[in-house]
Amino acid sequence: MNAFKELGLEDHLVQAITDLGFETPSEVQEKTIPLLLDEDRDLVALAQTGTGKTAAFGFPMLQKIDINSRTTQGLILSPTRELCLQITNEMKLYGKHCKGLNVTAIYGGASITDQANQVKRGAQIIVATPGRMKDMISRRLVDISKIEYAVLDEADEMLNMGFFEDITEILSYTPEEKSTWLFSATMPKEVSLIAKKFMDSPTEVTVGHKNMGSKNVSHEYFVVGARDRYQALKRLADANPEIFSVIFCRTKRDTQKVAEQLIEDGYNAGALHGDLSQNQRDVVMKSFRAKQIQMLVATDVAARGIDVDDITHVINYQLPDEIEIYTHRSGRTGRAGKTGISMVIASKSEVRKIKSIERIIQKEFIKKEVPNGMEICEVQLKALASKIHDTEINQEIEPYLNDINSLFEDVTKDELIKKFFSAEFTRFFNYYKKSKDLKSQSGSTSDDNYRSDNNSARFFINIGSKDGYDWMKLKDFLRDTLQLNQDDLYKVDVKDSFAFFNTDAAHKDKVLEFFTDFKQDGRFINVEVTEKKSRDRNRGGGGGGRRSGGEGGYGGGRGRGRNDRSKGSSSGFKSESRGRRSDSDSSSSRSPRRSSDFKPSGGGDFSRARKSRR
Ligand code: ADP
Ligand code: MG
Repeated sequence: MNAFKELGLEDHLVQAITDLGFETPSEVQEKTIPLLLDEDRDLVALAQTGTGKTAAFGFPMLQKIDINSRTTQGLILSPTRELCLQITNEMKLYGKHCKGLNVTAIYGGASITDQANQVKRGAQIIVATPGRMKDMISRRLVDISKIEYAVLDEADEMLNMGFFEDITEILSYTPEEKSTWLFSATMPKEVSLIAKKFMDSPTEVTVGHKNMGSKNVSHEYFVVGARDRYQALKRLADANPEIFSVIFCRTKRDTQKVAEQLIEDGYNAGALHGDLSQNQRDVVMKSFRAKQIQMLVATDVAARGIDVDDITHVINYQLPDEIEIYTHRSGRTGRAGKTGISMVIASKSEVRKIKSIERIIQKEFIKKEVPNGMEICEVQLKALASKIHDTEINQEIEPYLNDINSLFEDVTKDELIKKFFSAEFTRFFNYYKKSKDLKSQSGSTSDDNYRSDNNSARFFINIGSKDGYDWMKLKDFLRDTLQLNQDDLYKVDVKDSFAFFNTDAAHKDKVLEFFTDFKQDGRFINVEVTEKKSRDRNRGGGGGGRRSGGEGGYGGGRGRGRNDRSKGSSSGFKSESRGRRSDSDSSSSRSPRRSSDFKPSGGGDFSRARKSRR
C-alpha cells in the first residue's frame, strides 16, 4: 500500500502526492499526519527547513476541511510573501483533485482589493503574512471567526521578524475551539511562549534535535568578477579535496553547462535539472548517493527533495532570484546533526542581496577570498599526505618491489618522500603558478573585467526601454534567443530606444548572423558591432591585461586521479570522454601544461594509491 495512504490520507490526496512524485513521507510527515488526522488537537512540530513541513500540515488540513462549504476554515500564517506564495502553490497542488477548493494568498505589496475579491468568492483556506492579514481584518475584508485550523508556519521566523503582536491580534479574531498547529525549525523562548499562550496542551513532535536547524550551517561568500565564477568554483572545490556538494545554478542551461565543464576538467560532477528524463535523474541521484559524484550541479526545482545527509558544501554558483530560496539551498547541508558550509559566489552587485539574505536567515555571512594557487597547493598536498598515510598496502605489488627497491637504493626515505610529493606538488604548482588571485578588489566589478578585454565584442541593438526592456529583461531575451549562458553576456546597457551589450568575440559571428533579418512583432531587430575603442576612451581607458588569459582547465592533474576513481563506478559519468579529452586536447589553449607534467608518473601512481583505498 502507498505509504501516504497508510498514514490515513484519502485517495484523491494520495493521487496528488503521487503526481508530485513524493514516494515516501518525510519524518515530520510520518509523525504529524496521523496525529493531525486522528483527532483535533494542538500541535507543535519542530523540524529544520527542507523537511517537508508544508505537506505535513497541508494534507491533513485539506482532508479535514469541508470543500463544499465556502466558509474560511483554515488559516496559515507565514513570515514572508515568498513563503506565503510558495505555500499557496503547494496547497493548490496538494488539493488539485479537490473540486471546488479555493486557496487564497494574502500578502503585502499586491492589490488588497484583488485579494479581498478572491476571499469573497469563498476561500476555504487563506495563506497570509501577518501584516497584510491584520490589515484585512481591520478593514473587515476577511472573516476568520469560523476557522477550525490555524497554522503558524516558520513560527520562529515570524517572531524574529517582530510579528508577535500581529499574530496575537489575528488569533484573537479566531474561535477558541480551533486547533492550532505550530511549525518551526527552532524553539527559542518566544516560540514556547506563543505555544503556552495560544495552545492547549499541544502534542510535541520533534524531528532531529531541537534548535538544530541552520545552526549547523555556516555561510560564506566570495566576491569575484562575473566571468570568474567558474574559475572560483573550481578553486573552492580544489581547496576542499573531500568536497561532497550541491552546486546551484539559476537555469537549466547553466546547470548543464557548469556540470559539463566540470566533467571535462576532470571532476566527478553531474547535472540534475528538469530537462533530463526521470531515468537520467535517477541515475545521477544514485551516483550522487554513492558518492561517485562529488559535485552535483542542480537547479532549485530539481534539487527539491534531495535527501542526502552528508553534503559538506552547498555552493551558490548564482544566487537565486528569490532570496527565500537560499534557505532551502543551504538547508541541503548541515543535516542530521552534521556541520556544513553554504558558499556564495557573488559578483559585486550581488552583495546587497547577501545582506538581505542575512536578514532572512538571521545569520551573518563570512566574507572570504577565493583561495589562491599556493593555498590550494598546500591543501592538496596535505590531503595527499594523509591519504598516502592511510592507504592500505596492496599485496599484489610484492613481485615488483625488488626492482623498485633497487631503483631507489641510493635514495633516503626523506628524499623519497620529497620526490614523491614533488611529483604531485609540481602538478598543482605549475597549474596555479601563473594564475591570478580571484580577489574581490582586483577586477571585481564586471566593468573592470571586461573593459580591457580584447576578446569581447560590443554590440548595438535597436530596442530599448521604450520597448519595455530593462537590462535584466534584455539579457534574458538575448540569452534565450541566442542560446548563450548567463555569463556570456555582459555590460548590458539599456537606453531609451536602443541598447548595448557585450559577448565574447567568439560569439560575434553567431550574434550577427542570428540577427540578420530577425523580426519580432513585425519589426526588424537590428544588431551591429560598435566601435570598441571609443567606448574604452569614454570609460577612462583600459589599464590593460587585468584579466589573465584564463587558467585553463587543469583537468590533467587532478583529472586523472579523479577520473580513475570514478572509473570503477557503474555510472560511467562520461569518464571515458573525460579521459579522451585530457589525452587529446593538449593542443587546446585550455591546458597547455597538462601533458608534459603529469602523464609519466604522478597521475598513475596516485590514482592507484587512491583506488586501493576503496
Ligand atoms: P519545509 O517547510 O520543512 O522547509 P517544504 O515543505 O518546503 O519544507 O518541503 C521542501 C521540499 O521537499 C519541497 O520542494 C517539497 O515539495 C519537497 N517534499 C516534501 N515532502 C516530500 C516527500 N515526501 N518526498 C519528496 N519531496 C518532498
Ligand atoms: Mg516551510
